[in-house]
Amino acid sequence: MKVSVLGSGSSGNCTYIATEKTCVLVDLGFGPRSLKRRLDQADLQAERIDAVLLTHGHSDHVSGVPGFLARRQVPIFMNEGTREEVPGLQNIDRWESFRSNSSFFIGDLQIEAFSVSHDAAEPVGFRFSAQGICGALVTDLGEFTPSVVENLSGCDWFIVESNHDEQMLKIGPYPWSIKQRVLSRLGHLSNQELSTFLSNSFDRQAAHIFLAHLSRRNNDPKIALDHASRALFQDLPLYAKCCNLHLTHQSKPSIVLDL
Ligand SMILES: [Zn+2]
Ligand SMILES: [Zn+2]
Repeated sequence: MKVSVLGSGSSGNCTYIATEKTCVLVDLGFGPRSLKRRLDQADLQAERIDAVLLTHGHSDHVSGVPGFLARRQVPIFMNEGTREEVPGLQNIDRWESFRSNSSFFIGDLQIEAFSVSHDAAEPVGFRFSAQGICGALVTDLGEFTPSVVENLSGCDWFIVESNHDEQMLKIGPYPWSIKQRVLSRLGHLSNQELSTFLSNSFDRQAAHIFLAHLSRRNNDPKIALDHASRALFQDLPLYAKCCNLHLTHQSKPSIVLDL
């Protein structure tokens, strides 16, 4: 299985996930030229893309879909709530519906869509299984519910949000109402909330963890990495030998994981 986060953050999200037979994008929050540049940088092929899966209807996750469809007619997998939320997604010819909290296949990729707590119509995270490898993607959520914890267990890799540093957000320039939204259970996960999960509820199976959807204004990649590595490795230094933390970026692809 190949995985690369092509872009992550409030200016556009997209992740590439491929088996030998099947290739999908999760979310598409930037235009076709930007997508092509990122795929080229990661040495990945646009021609292989079989489908696009959408987590929720916020524009940083869906704004690139119409432009992509003008060039490539592939099915767009989304739930009813997301389709109804975004006017630009309602006239898509090749819409494939999935139900939240159910599983389905695209080629040889088994996908579980699980509900998350976020201020969109019907937001989900995804868990992927194929060829004995299992991974998950969960960004844009305000809390770790039991279902999220369950879907991140037993994974070989996962992509998880480390959106903001709580102190930076509180003293930062955002209006109070936006700060409240980000901090709420329907908002985004902080470095501190992710650390609590990694310390207390994580099964320490995954060999690769990507930190995603970092806020440019209210976070710093070094601080996010520091929080996560302390939570993971402080009490278990040997785990550092078998678990790799990876950063994701707004303007360029992450590493390409090949498992
Ligand atoms: Zn987002
Ligand atoms: Zn969102």
